[in-house]
Amino acid sequence: MMTLKEQLEQAVAERSRWEIRRQFGADGPNMRNLWVLACMDERMPVDEALGIRADSPVGGGDAHLFRNAGGIVTDDAIRSAMLTINFFGTREIVVVQHTGCGMLSANGNDLVAALRSKGIDVDNVPLDPTLPELRLEKGAFGKWIGMMDDVDQTCIKTVEAFRNHPLIPKDIVISGWVWETEFRRLRAPNKNAPTRPVTQPTAASMKVKGAQPPRWA
Ligand SMILES: [Zn+2]
Repeated sequence: MMTLKEQLEQAVAERSRWEIRRQFGADGPNMRNLWVLACMDERMPVDEALGIRADSPVGGGDAHLFRNAGGIVTDDAIRSAMLTINFFGTREIVVVQHTGCGMLSANGNDLVAALRSKGIDVDNVPLDPTLPELRLEKGAFGKWIGMMDDVDQTCIKTVEAFRNHPLIPKDIVISGWVWETEFRRLRAPNKNAPTRPVTQPTAASMKVKGAQPPRWA
């Protein structure tokens, strides 16, 4: 049995390494060698959904956590995954999206029209002001927004996108999950909408008319 002195010495040493772990590159990974991609929605508690300590209390240390609108694959998600997997010791990707997502709540074409009505020229906006090289073709802005028709389908497509990406090694474990906002529980994505035990997994169930710009088709 450890003495308290030994326990404290170990805890202090571990904490010291935790603070500077990033300088060790792949030898200083987070606690679970894990990168999580999740929707930014305030109703999706990532730690509770996945049973990890990534974002609460701050610095729980289990994962590198990336959140965006929808928890979808984007250029910045790829950039972040590329860095943590190739250089910071991460070996696993977990994607978590959710029912009742704001990204199901409108048609992307309507959002484009709303922005245009405000006088914004969506065909000529800088996606990244520090990287003017990053540009969309004319007419692609609606796709870029990334609104979803179906959260389960989008979750599956997002996983496939990481699996097939040249910056993500083939031996990385990748999985995708859907958080049921109304029941506070996690389930696997299910392509067959009528068999799902939940409400609001699709844009149609949120009374959105018309198909989205074809990003997930
Ligand atoms: Zn969401």
